[in-house]
Amino acid sequence: MKITEHFDSLEFSQKALGSIPSSEYPQQWISDRLLPLCIQLEIIRKELGENPITILSGYRSPEFNKTIRGAKQSQHIEGKAADIIVKNISPKEVHERILTLSKNNIIKIGGLGEYPKFVHIDIRSSPKLIRWSGSRQDN
Ligand SMILES: [Zn+2]
Repeated sequence: MKITEHFDSLEFSQKALGSIPSSEYPQQWISDRLLPLCIQLEIIRKELGENPITILSGYRSPEFNKTIRGAKQSQHIEGKAADIIVKNISPKEVHERILTLSKNNIIKIGGLGEYPKFVHIDIRSSPKLIRWSGSRQDN
């Protein structure tokens, strides 16, 4: 299902992992969680020069999250997070530019995680942007 111009709910589905089946992004969260997330991603895409964004991880079932040892309160379980890579731009630079967009109130995000190979963003409601950097663990 197309959510915004460049993002489809299928991109946020969880892929199968071993014995854990794949699962679609929960239908009941599309309008109040996935849509606002995709709107922020559209702004990021535009501000970063219209380079295509790949969603490495979107929704995760609780079972899946446990298996990959994700954070217990993972925003991915809530359907509010995306781990992204942007074509032609390093994760380090993507992180810096998203941070600037957030500081300038051009985007509204609640969490921003920096990793060597991707950037995590989420739309949790938080008065202050929650930031971390990690090597393996994800939130
Ligand atoms: Zn993440």
